[in-house]
Amino acid sequence: MINLDYDTLQAELRSWVDECRPYSREGETAGYIPALGRVPGDILGAAVCDLKDRVVEAGDTGHKFTLQSISKIFSLILALEDCGPEIVFGRVGMEPTGDPFNSIAKLEFTRPSRPLNPMINAGAIMICDLVGGGTAGEKFRRIRDFVRRLSSNPHIDVDPEVYESEKSTGHRNRALAYFLKDTAGLKGDVEEILDIYFKQCSLQVSCRDLAYMGAVLANEGRLPSSGEPMINPFYCQTALAFMVTCGFYNGSGQLAVEVGVPAKSGVSGGILSSAPGRMGIGIIGPGLDLKGNSLAGRMLLARIAGDLNLSIFA
Ligand code: GLU
Repeated sequence: MINLDYDTLQAELRSWVDECRPYSREGETAGYIPALGRVPGDILGAAVCDLKDRVVEAGDTGHKFTLQSISKIFSLILALEDCGPEIVFGRVGMEPTGDPFNSIAKLEFTRPSRPLNPMINAGAIMICDLVGGGTAGEKFRRIRDFVRRLSSNPHIDVDPEVYESEKSTGHRNRALAYFLKDTAGLKGDVEEILDIYFKQCSLQVSCRDLAYMGAVLANEGRLPSSGEPMINPFYCQTALAFMVTCGFYNGSGQLAVEVGVPAKSGVSGGILSSAPGRMGIGIIGPGLDLKGNSLAGRMLLARIAGDLNLSIFA
C-alpha cells in the first residue's frame, strides 16, 4: 500500500522527523491542564501503520501521552453503533463551528440548543451521555475496551495524574455540561458524564497505538492484521468526514488545504491521521499552536502526506 519499501520508508520518516524537530520548540504545552503543562514541549515522534500491518516509527515514540480529543472519534463511533445516527444527530450537529474547541458561545444561540458537532468539547460531552451502558463506569469501560481492541493493545488505561488534573481543573467543561443539562436535554447525571469524558481524554497511548487505530479507519473499519470487522463501514466513513471538517477545530480548513488527510488532534499534542486505503499515522508533539493543535505535529503530518501523496483531494 505504501509505494516505498520498508527500509526506505523508515529512513524517510526519520529524516522528516529531524526536519520538523526545530518547530517542536515553538509551541506551548496545554498548561490549562497542569499535568500536560509539565510535559517537555520539544518531543516529536511518529509511527505509520500500513494496511498490511507493517509499522515504521521514528523520533520520540517511547513517549506515552493521553488521547485527549482524539478519544472523541471512538466514543462517537460507539454512540452511533449503540443508538444509530438518527438519535445521535438529533442531539449533536454535523457542522464545523469555526470556534475554539471549548467555546460555549454558539450553544446559547443555536435553536434548538445543541452542540454543533461531536468533536468540540460540548458535543463530546453530549456523546458520553449516548454511549450504551447501565452505569457511568460501564460506559467508560466500553470506550476503553473499544480503544484497546482497535489498537490491538490490551494494556491501554487511564493516566491517573492527567485524569486527576483534568477533573480538578475542568471548570469550563463543567460549565458546558451544566449548560447542556439546562438547555439541550443532557439526560444523565452531569458529574458522572463528566467523569466518563475526563477518563476517555486521559487514556494513555503511544504513536504506535494511534497508527494502528488510524489504519483500522483507513481500512473501512477492519483490523489490518486479520481483516476482522471492528466498525460499521458507514460509521467509519462518518468519523473520517468529521476528522476532515472538525478534526483540528478552527484550524480544520488550513489542515484540509495544507495536508488533505483526515486527522484528529488532542491537546496532549497527539495526532491520529488516517489516509483511506493507504495507512494510519500517529504523531506526538506536545507544543501546541494557538488553536490547540500540535505545531510540529502538523508540520510533520504535512511532510508525510506531501511526500507520500496522501491527500484525499489530489
Ligand atoms: N481534555 C481536553 C479538554 O477537555 C480535551 C481538549 C482537546 O484535546 O482538544 O479541554
